[in-house]
Amino acid sequence: MIIQPKIRGFICTTAHPEGCAANVREQIAYVKSQPPVTGGPKKVLVLGSSTGYGLSSRIVPAFACGADTLGVFFEKPGQEGRTGSAGWYNTAGFEAAAKADGLYARSLNGDAFSDELKAKVIATIKADLGQVDAVIYSLASPRRTDPKTGAVYKSCLKPIGQTYTAKNVNTDKALVDDITIEPATEEEIAETVKVMGGEDWEWWIDALAEAGVLADGATTVAYSYIGPELTWPVYKDGTIGRAKIDLEQACARIGGKLAATGGRAFVSVNKAVVTQASSAIPVVPLYISILFKDMKARGTHEGCTEQIQRLFAENLYGGKTPNLDATGRIRIDDWEMRDEVQAAVSEIWEKINTGNLRELSDFDAYQADFLRLFGFGVDGVDYEAESDPVRELDLVE
Ligand code: NAD
Repeated sequence: MIIQPKIRGFICTTAHPEGCAANVREQIAYVKSQPPVTGGPKKVLVLGSSTGYGLSSRIVPAFACGADTLGVFFEKPGQEGRTGSAGWYNTAGFEAAAKADGLYARSLNGDAFSDELKAKVIATIKADLGQVDAVIYSLASPRRTDPKTGAVYKSCLKPIGQTYTAKNVNTDKALVDDITIEPATEEEIAETVKVMGGEDWEWWIDALAEAGVLADGATTVAYSYIGPELTWPVYKDGTIGRAKIDLEQACARIGGKLAATGGRAFVSVNKAVVTQASSAIPVVPLYISILFKDMKARGTHEGCTEQIQRLFAENLYGGKTPNLDATGRIRIDDWEMRDEVQAAVSEIWEKINTGNLRELSDFDAYQADFLRLFGFGVDGVDYEAESDPVRELDLVE
């Protein structure tokens, strides 16, 4: 079939297999252009490995450290006449490249929050890898079913205690307008913590350790975001920020447990990038459009893979000391948060409107990056050519 983008609000309901594979190959080429990471992990479990930061967290250990990887995600396969999701095709591209380099790369498609999937992962590690020496937790989900009770929780992106009004861009229509978000209820806060907080990460590490499939000295990392003050009401001080505080508390507990065998747990605060998760956050796409223009001009712009390369090469491995803040979080958002960058972004933020959106920000690049998430607009891909939406993965069934 000929595959074209079909955008509905902040999602694209189609994805291009060759475009997604080409994107992955580009990220792999970047990692291969960097010096290899010495002392890196050799057997890595990546939870949320199909898109965004999780995909990069699979690419970097594989191609910078020569690691075998087991990936977990929740994606849709393609079928005759209907495309699958981007993460499915990204994984097909990743598996092909990893196997070409002689690396183990298998995947599990299912609900990472469930006990059933945890048991399958443990059985697969036992059978194929013995143990894992790194676990990357990069799930971003709108809902979670608690496996112990069957209750379904939904996350939301809302301020706490106050109504928040701020500039926002309608990314489909390129219109800058004010958006007003009413504060979350106590129940919405609690549900968001349940979905995006640290409970499931801790359950994963406990289950892996109990089953004896976590190597001594293993490292585990989960991701967070802080960002500029202008987004704090809806991010850092909002419902998702509460979930990230919970993630940090879980990190402290996990780190305490792993310390007994020389293991480590970190929360890494990453920079704002265009992903399926970040495009759903109000206000953030406009901020990203302004930020990217400034960081590109300074030569400090990074995407997911550049960020994770820096996380592995300069913080976690190679004998490096992690760049920690006062509360013990790794900060690879350091270039985004530099005073001069934030001052320049704030100045533009005051002036930006629909009329000057493309002049004052990198909105065109934002839209292009968004389409690339789904494999569209990638150099060297023939979008007029027939493409088979059915692609096989090396899945553990
Ligand atoms: P993303 O949407 O690109 O990726 C989410 C991943 O989770 C995908 O692999 C998806 O398949 C998987 N997933 C979702 N629900 C699942 C389920 N029930 N079972 C199994 N897999 C499931 O998201 P992202 O932006 O890369 O976010 C990953 C992490 O990075 C989050 O913790 C996020 O807060 C953090 N982060 C993101 C940004 C950003 O700007 N995007 C910045 C800093 C930190």
